[in-house]
Amino acid sequence: MKRPAAAARWPGIEGVRTADDLSELPLMSPDTLEDLCPPAVTDLVLDSADSGMVLRSSGTSGKRKVLYHSWEFDVRVTHLGARGVRAALTTAPSRVGNCLYPGELNGAFSFAQDLTRRLGAQTYPLGTSMRTEELLEVIREHRIDTLIGSPAMGADLLSDPANLASLASLRTYLYIGENLGAARAAVMTEAIPGLRVRSLSYSTSETGPIGYQCPFQGDGTHHVHDDAMFVEVVDPETGAEVADGEEGEVITTTLTDTGMPLVRFRMGDRAIRHTTGGCACGSPTSRITLTGRVPRSLNVDGATISQDLVMAQLRGLGVADPADCQFQVRRAPDRGFDVVLLLADRLAVRPTGDEVLRRLREGYHLGRVFAMPGFRGFTLRHVPTADFVRNTRGKTPFFVEL
Ligand SMILES: [Zn+2]
Repeated sequence: MKRPAAAARWPGIEGVRTADDLSELPLMSPDTLEDLCPPAVTDLVLDSADSGMVLRSSGTSGKRKVLYHSWEFDVRVTHLGARGVRAALTTAPSRVGNCLYPGELNGAFSFAQDLTRRLGAQTYPLGTSMRTEELLEVIREHRIDTLIGSPAMGADLLSDPANLASLASLRTYLYIGENLGAARAAVMTEAIPGLRVRSLSYSTSETGPIGYQCPFQGDGTHHVHDDAMFVEVVDPETGAEVADGEEGEVITTTLTDTGMPLVRFRMGDRAIRHTTGGCACGSPTSRITLTGRVPRSLNVDGATISQDLVMAQLRGLGVADPADCQFQVRRAPDRGFDVVLLLADRLAVRPTGDEVLRRLREGYHLGRVFAMPGFRGFTLRHVPTADFVRNTRGKTPFFVEL
C-alpha cells in the first residue's frame, strides 16, 4: 500500500502474498468504515482528497459513509461498468434512458451516464421524478431501446398495460440497486416478450463494480470482475469460506491503488458461491448468486427484531418472499407506535389482519413488540408493491420507521 496510514489499519497486510494469507486478516465491518470516512479521517483516501467525486452511502449505525473517489478511480469504475454491459448484451444499446436517482451524493446516475458514453450510445438523462406520461412520451418519440433503473421502477412501468404502446421500441432493461426477483422478472418479460432484463452491475458506492452478467445469467447471478476484486463468500459467524453451492456473506477486497482500500470488507449482501460446473458462456471467472441482504434488524423500544423472525411467522401463512412484505413501525407524535404490515396484492394468499397478528404475536422475540406499552395497533394492508415506501435510491427496505 502506498499510504502507510492506510496500511496501518490492517496489521499484517504487508506480509500478504496469497489468498490464503489474506484470509488470516480480520473481516472489516461497515461500522469501522463509518469511523474512517473523510473529511474527519483521510487515512483511506489513497490519492487525491482535492479532486474527484464525493459520494455518500447510508451507514448501518446511523452514520453516513462519505467516500472520496479520485477521477482516476472514476475512470476505472466506468471501464468496469461498460465492460460488464458489453458482456451482458449481445447487441449494444443505442439510445439509453437513464432513470436512476441523480444527486444527493449518489453515484449511480453518473455511473450510468459515464458508461453509456463509454459504450458509444446516446444517453437520455431522465432521472426519477418525471411524470409517467412525459417519460413515456420521450421513450416513444425518441425510440429509446434501453432503460436503466431500479427493479421496482421497471416492474411498475411495465405492469401497467396502458404504458405498453409507448414502450414498443424497448429491447433492454438494465437494473441496479437490488435483486430483481422472480415476480418482477415475470411481470417485465410477460409485458414485453423477448425483453432483455439484465443487471447493469453488481456495484456499490464503496467499491465500484464487483460483478457483471453474461447472457446466460439472470436475476442475482453474476460473474465477478476477478481482475479488480477479490470476492469471498463466508459464514457470517465464523468468517470461514462456505462450500460450493452454499450461501454466505459477500466479502470484498478491492485490488486497486486508487479510491478507497477495502480489505475483507463485509458487503452486507448474501450470496451463493459457485466454484464448479462452469458457466455456459465459457468464462472461467468466479460466479456468485446474490440472494438478498444479510438479515436486517430493527430495534423497537429495546426489542431487536429481524427480517428472519418476521418471515418465519409469515411463511406459515403462505408468504415466503421478503420482497412481498414491508414491516412499518409508525411512531405517534406523542408516544407509542403503530405496526403496519404491507403485503403485495399479487400474492396468491390473502390472510386477514387477525390471522397475521396472531402469528406475529406467537413469534420468538417478535411477540414482545406487540406486548409493549407503546404498541397501539396493528394494520394489515394488501397493496401493490409500488405503494411500498422506498428510499431515495429506489430500494424497498423490509423494515421502515415512519
Ligand atoms: Zn457466463
